[in-house]
Amino acid sequence: MSDTTRLVARRSNTSSIRHCHECTEEASGRCSYCHNNLCMDHFPRMLHAPCAQKYMKHAQTHVCYVCGTRVNPDQWSLSRTSHRIDTFSCNGCGRYICDEQHTKVKKEQVTVAREGLRGHRYQITSRYCELCAPISRIGGIKGLTYLVVIAGTILAGIFFYFHP
Ligand SMILES: [Zn+2]
Ligand SMILES: [Zn+2]
Ligand SMILES: [Zn+2]
Ligand SMILES: [Zn+2]
Repeated sequence: MSDTTRLVARRSNTSSIRHCHECTEEASGRCSYCHNNLCMDHFPRMLHAPCAQKYMKHAQTHVCYVCGTRVNPDQWSLSRTSHRIDTFSCNGCGRYICDEQHTKVKKEQVTVAREGLRGHRYQITSRYCELCAPISRIGGIKGLTYLVVIAGTILAGIFFYFHP
């Protein structure tokens, strides 16, 4: 009887705290891939489902598109409230690039997400490869799409000019 009461009391007490998707620890952040709440220990992609399975499935594709060096797109916790995310891929074309040689531009972006009373800091590394570095200033993918549209229009123009 008293046990049941205690259980109920404990449950209502902790209901405001978010729990880790993998264990009973208090969650300290949200996965940038699957959006599950996770504790510090389970935050890296290889340490929780369904990200670990996905990671394993695509592990062969995690190579720099220029030199083929293995890259390790991952995320990890620096503390309970701050996390680092590094996708090791170019923000412009979306392909994986290695850190040592083929990351031409590297920027740190910080976003703070409010979770209850705490703010969680996510430090995201954004990279650009040699080809996309010039467009890093006009905003990665959006800029690239824009350029592709312009290039497409010009090419179409040339095509119709030569093939009336
Ligand atoms: Zn956990
Ligand atoms: Zn995940
Ligand atoms: Zn490389
Ligand atoms: Zn690129």
